[in-house]
Amino acid sequence: MDIKRIFCIGRNYAAHIEELGNAPDSDCVVFMKPPSCVVPVGQPIRLPRGVGAVHHEAELVVALNGGGSDIAIEQALKHVGAFTLGLDLTLRDLQNQLKDAGKPWELCKAFDDAAPLGHWVAYRGEDLQALEFKCHVNGALRQHGQTRDMLYSVARQIQILSRTWALAAGDVIYTGTPKGVGPLQAGDSITLESDAIGRFEWSCG
Ligand code: ZN
Repeated sequence: MDIKRIFCIGRNYAAHIEELGNAPDSDCVVFMKPPSCVVPVGQPIRLPRGVGAVHHEAELVVALNGGGSDIAIEQALKHVGAFTLGLDLTLRDLQNQLKDAGKPWELCKAFDDAAPLGHWVAYRGEDLQALEFKCHVNGALRQHGQTRDMLYSVARQIQILSRTWALAAGDVIYTGTPKGVGPLQAGDSITLESDAIGRFEWSCG
């Protein structure tokens, strides 16, 4: 699939908001990564060096096969064409500095290789809010997500994004991460898996 744009939703799981010390009543955050950030399964992730911790954020990812503006929440899931798992890699130390300085997040979120992405599974009306997924690093469980814990459902995210952008086929949404984010090191192996989606592995270089 040709990816047109990558939207990312932040602060979408209460327990993750808490682990980063963010205010629980803040709105969901929206940011973007260029499609050039994608790392397909089987290709090594080149971690940035000398810029502090690189954190994994395991996320459900959906791809749209259509869209439009001002999409009603009841109509939103009609535009989902496929789903998978992905990593919203984040330079956490740099993000904290940028947040403190009130600066934008591109440097900590949109660097090369910041969006490892699994293989797409065609969407056939599965309940996207009843999925379970796990992230292991070197075999140790780091994140265990339940999409029912999302503060903003996938349908709500599509509704929100469509108020600002005319959504279209090829738009991809990283839907936020559950708790358990942590650092990756060169030599680590990271896997994402979900019974409904599959198992994907990357090595970090
Ligand atoms: Zn994220």
